Amino acid sequence: MASHTKYFIGNWKMFGIPSSFKIIDKINNYFKKDRKNNKKYKIIIAPPLTLLQDFIFKSKNKKVLISAQNCYEEDKFGAHTGFVSPFMIKKIGVKFIIIGHSENRQKGETDKVLKKKILLALKNNFTVIFCIGENKSEKRKKRTVKVLKKQISNVLHKNYNLNKIIIAYEPIWSIGTGKIPSSNELIKTIANLKNFLTNKYKSSPKILYGGSVDKDSIREFKSIKELDGFLIGGASKSSKNFIDIIRNFYK
Ligand code: PEP
Repeated sequence: MASHTKYFIGNWKMFGIPSSFKIIDKINNYFKKDRKNNKKYKIIIAPPLTLLQDFIFKSKNKKVLISAQNCYEEDKFGAHTGFVSPFMIKKIGVKFIIIGHSENRQKGETDKVLKKKILLALKNNFTVIFCIGENKSEKRKKRTVKVLKKQISNVLHKNYNLNKIIIAYEPIWSIGTGKIPSSNELIKTIANLKNFLTNKYKSSPKILYGGSVDKDSIREFKSIKELDGFLIGGASKSSKNFIDIIRNFYK
């Protein structure tokens, strides 16, 4: 059964400058006014590293949580020019972290690296938003579920506390393309994943969908009870688009 709380997580990627913090106030104001639904969802924004500390500060006492987009695969401190460790990110007050985004996998992040990152993120008490997803050719060959299971098995240890892991299913062919899976396809994939996770890990983490979620496509997804929320890229950078997604989801 999907949990009651839904997650709307905005992944800003390499976008945003210091003045972008205003989105926090705008979304927080909407949240406060949305008394009918606001107990049903959580909002998380993942800004780039340059904005993390300021966003943590600006979101104090507000209903917008902050996530990092990635971390280095070694902890604490070290001679790793240009990188930051999970420990360093934790120390500025961040509690969520995205790991395994397909854009980073495409740049060379292997399952071995992801395994180390997740282990360290959990050790530092983060909630991990772990991204998985098949590419176009894997989908065409009907290998989606096989690919997803492998991505999970190669990285998540059997004895992990899955309460600290949120799986974000993001078909690569859907990211930034405007193409989305059909409801039937998505329902089947999520059901397969839940079965697999329950059998292997004896518990099922929250599962989000990501890929071209916007104020229009959200109408297609809102009836899919099995989903615990959404990882939103492009449409999360504007407060209006972000708010419209939440508004249309509960309409
Ligand atoms: C993403 O990159 O995580 C994503 C879901 O992007 P978009 O919503 O732009 O497809």
